[in-house]
Amino acid sequence: MMEKKPFCRRCLLEDMPDEAALAQSIRELIDLLPEEKRAPADMTAQRLAQCRACDRLQNGMCMLCGCYVELRAAKRMMKCPDLPGKW
Ligand code: SF4
Repeated sequence: MMEKKPFCRRCLLEDMPDEAALAQSIRELIDLLPEEKRAPADMTAQRLAQCRACDRLQNGMCMLCGCYVELRAAKRMMKCPDLPGKW
């Protein structure tokens, strides 16, 4: 019988060993962002802290917009899609 995958609600991709390849792909996409389009590291970290505390986060994805929050938070001009926005 297949082992049931644990449900991970407040996890980012980087927290999920089974999603290591996807997390690596997201990191590579972030690295390709031009400097002026990339959020500073401390801004990204603050945004992701908000996501971790948010009910809309599920398995690294925002259930409001369907994005991977690690990528969204790394883009300087992006905003949280919730109303009111959390970041
Ligand atoms: S609603 Fe905003 S804070 Fe919540 S997971 Fe989506 S982007 Fe993050």
